[in-house]
Amino acid sequence: MTELVIATRNAHKTREIQHILGPEFTVRDLRAYSAMSEIPESGISFEENARLKAVAVSQRLPDLVIADDSGLEVDALGGAPGVYSARYAGIKASEKEKIDKLLRELASVGAISDARRARFRCVLALACKGNLLGSVEEVVEGRIAHKARGSGGFGYDPIFIPEGFQQTFGELPAEVKNTISHRAKAIRRLATKLLKPRD
Ligand code: IMP
Repeated sequence: MTELVIATRNAHKTREIQHILGPEFTVRDLRAYSAMSEIPESGISFEENARLKAVAVSQRLPDLVIADDSGLEVDALGGAPGVYSARYAGIKASEKEKIDKLLRELASVGAISDARRARFRCVLALACKGNLLGSVEEVVEGRIAHKARGSGGFGYDPIFIPEGFQQTFGELPAEVKNTISHRAKAIRRLATKLLKPRD
């Protein structure tokens, strides 16, 4: 059994990572360390933020640490919300407010071809005792739905339709999202490259 700390307080991310890694791994996250101060996401790329978080948390805990920095890129919005996905409608905005803002912005762009083309991007960084062991980056391509559909997943899932499907990540079963998503692909690559389950 390999134990890992995920450098997040987002229970949805943690649940997905545990589901994707399976029973040979036990993951916990920063909700178990309420006294630990917030790690500022001051980078301008997913990679920079993931590396920053993984190294900073691994300086404070003895465990292997994975940091996930991820977000949604919409082509017609020049790649926005991108690294600002979590704060797109302000730090305190609800998931619904973020989705509403994105749909509004996209409606105002007008009818350009492929306007709804988008992708989720995920960078995972692995660190131990303040040393970065490596990072991986993966995407899942898709398009933005005209309205939110489904209550599964989190964040922008109700408006993201992955390529090859008609349903949003909010409508698809977790088993499907956790097989094809940006996070699933990144975890699988990280596991092959860097993580070997230990007894
Ligand atoms: P982070 O904690 O800065 O990586 O924030 C990532 C933000 O991107 C989340 O708060 C979500 O809004 C969005 N996001 C990342 N991954 C997903 C996903 O799998 N589904 C839906 N939204 C996601």
